[in-house]
Order: sequence, then structure tokens, then C-alpha cells
Amino acid sequence: MKIKIEHANILRMVQEKEGVITGDLAIDGEDIAFIGEVPNSFVADKTIDGSNTLVIPGLINAHTHTPMSIFRNYANDLELMDWLNTAIFPAEDRMDEECGYYGALLSMIELIQSGCTAFEEQYMFVDSIAKAALESGMRANIARGLVGDGKEEGSLRRLQENIDFYHEWHGKGSGRIRVDFGPHAPYTCQDGILKKVIDAVDALPDSGIHIHLCETQTEVQGSIEQYGMTPIERMERLGLFGQHRVVAAHGVYLTENDIAILKKYNVHIVHNPSSNLKLASGFAPVAKIMNEGVNVALGTDGSSSNNNVNMVEELHIAGILAKAVAKDAKALPAYEIIKMATINGAKALGIDDQVGTIEVGKKADLAIIDMSGAHWYPQTDLIAAVAYSMQGSDVRDVICNGRLLMENRKLLTISEKSVICKVQKLSEKVLNQI
Ligand SMILES: [Zn+2]
Repeated sequence: MKIKIEHANILRMVQEKEGVITGDLAIDGEDIAFIGEVPNSFVADKTIDGSNTLVIPGLINAHTHTPMSIFRNYANDLELMDWLNTAIFPAEDRMDEECGYYGALLSMIELIQSGCTAFEEQYMFVDSIAKAALESGMRANIARGLVGDGKEEGSLRRLQENIDFYHEWHGKGSGRIRVDFGPHAPYTCQDGILKKVIDAVDALPDSGIHIHLCETQTEVQGSIEQYGMTPIERMERLGLFGQHRVVAAHGVYLTENDIAILKKYNVHIVHNPSSNLKLASGFAPVAKIMNEGVNVALGTDGSSSNNNVNMVEELHIAGILAKAVAKDAKALPAYEIIKMATINGAKALGIDDQVGTIEVGKKADLAIIDMSGAHWYPQTDLIAAVAYSMQGSDVRDVICNGRLLMENRKLLTISEKSVICKVQKLSEKVLNQI
């Protein structure tokens, strides 16, 4: 399909401190064909009026657990270990593939409605999540959650599921679906399973590792007591940071040596400010590690610790929090905040050659933002407006891989009403049994 967006403001996110340009944008099939001026020879099947809108790269949620929407507003006001052990792990035992599928779809509704076109997943029920992502039209890196010692049956079975999942799904949906490996965290994975994961990833082209790392002080202290080193030092020693891509969620507690290791191996850190704040995990030194050259992407984490997956809200919180943590208002300027949610996320997912910026030849993953709301006026600095004033509800249209997923706030690939009804029933079933 050929789509033309006319008279828009376009934030390409290509160059440092680049301004907004005004013009048209043409999409031919999956790709961006023209930016600024579109030749008369381009005949669009569909024309979108971009007046008083801002076209930005589709936002990328680099760490989430989409089926956890089923636990939204369940088990609040607990710290991470309490929250996991007393509430979440027992509840997860009650879930099934149907919960995984509809929970994932519910999150995808929110993601699309907040301008998100791609996400990095780590959870169970990966076939159901992949099916939901394929149907929704979104782009997703999906990793099967892995725990254990690499010897007992369950631990080996889950790893084999991840390998089988790779063979079945990697590259499906015109390359939209990609498969990573999801060792849950250093404290739930012993050396045996981590070594097996490394071997599996290195044997499969274009795959990566998606892990939680240094989320709480308890985790880091526990690692030092048990292994005599920080979780990052332990992962380095095991070879987890090898040739493959590693996406490490959180990175809240980092030593200088940890930061040097992250940089040396190009490990991608995903900052999840809402989750870190709500679980009282701490304050990630985002501006510091970005200044030292570590790629930092942005994530919402799951809806159970956030309690939403609204990427626009996350963008805002990340921006203002980083300044307070650094005690420096100049830290993490608006453009850098937006980079975290776009091109930095694309790098974390290993797809920055395809998405994350608006460039001719790249895939058309775009969010068209309505700038008519009062909070956009006066229209002065549109980059600051995206970082500090924009609301998720301003996202008017969303295009992923050249396909419209939402138009004038109406979802085109998911039946919002039926998913909401289904998840309400499933959540009652899962939570009432506890
Ligand atoms: Zn997480």
C-alpha cells in the first residue's frame, strides 16, 4: 500500500539536536520512500492529513512483560522480592496460554495507543504472545523466561522451548517477530543454565539475551555474598556478554567497574523508571552511564509494577527523574530522552538498521501526534513538548511496517472491547483462586 502524509511536522531523530522539518512523507509498502517533498509520480492509495501533527518514529518499549496486564492493580505497595514471592509467582502458576494471549493483546492496545510500534518481551506463553504480536501488526523481540540450574527437567525444558520457539517464529511477519533468550535474572539463574543459554544464543543467528540485571540493592548484596562479585562481574566471567546482543533491564545499582564492563561489551541497559519507583528499587544513574557511552533504552516493565505500559508517560518520568537523580537540570536533555524511546531502543532490539529514526529506506514505523490540545500551546519547542508536555492520548495514528494500526484513535487490528471483556473474566478466574 502507498500512503502519503501531507503537511506534517516531522521529527526524524537522525542527527544530534536536529530540529523538526515540515513537509510530506510517503510510504511505499513497508518502507519510507520520501521525506519532505514527494514527487508527483508517487500516487498514494491513502492520503493522511498531517496538519498540526508531529510525526515521530514509533516508540520502542525495550523491556516489558505484556501478559502481566492481567495482574494490573493486583498486589500493590510491596517491594520487589515480597511482590514476586508472595503475590506474582503464585498467581503466575494459575495462568495459561489463553491468559498469555489476551493479556498480551491488552498490553498491545495500550502500547499502540501510546505511540509504540515495537517492544522487547520476556515472559512465559511465548507462542501466544507471538501470535498476538503477529495479529496486532506490532514489531516484537520475544524471549522465553528462563530460571533454574540447567540440570533439572523444568529448567532444561524451558530452554528447549526457547530454542524451538526461535526455530518456529524468528523472522515471521516480514521480520517483525524476532526471538531472544530470557534468563530471568542472576538471582533466579544458576551458572549452569546461564552457560547453556550462552551456547544456545551463539548457535542461532541474530538472536540475543534479555535479562533483568542489578535491579535492587538486595540482588547486588546477595551476589557479593554468594559469588564474591557483583552480578555484572559474574555475568562477564560466565561469558554472558560475548558476541551476541544483551538487553539488561534496570541497571539501578552499578559500580564504576560494572559500568566499564557494560561499555566494553556494548550491553544495552533498559531504564524502567516507573517500576523502579513503585517497587522502591532505587534510582538508576541514567545520565551518568549515558555520558560514559552506554546505550540506554526505555521500558515500562510489566503492568503489574507500573501499572500501565504507556510509553509517553514513561518518557516524561524518565526525563524529569534523571535530572533529579543527577542533581543537574542540564542532565538528559529533551532530545536525549526521546532518543531513549526511539533509536536507543532500536539498538537494544538489534533493529536500528530498520527502525528508530525516520529515514528514506527504513521501515515505516511511525506515530502521528495530534498537537491541537491546549497543553501543546504555545507551540514553540516541539522537542521539549514531546519530552515534557505530550500525553499518550495525543497519539492519533500509528503505522508499523507500513501498515496502519490505529487511525484517528481507532484500533484497526485489535478488537479493544472484546479483549477488555475477556481479560476482565480471565483475571477474575486467575486471581480468585489465590
Ligand atoms: Zn521486568
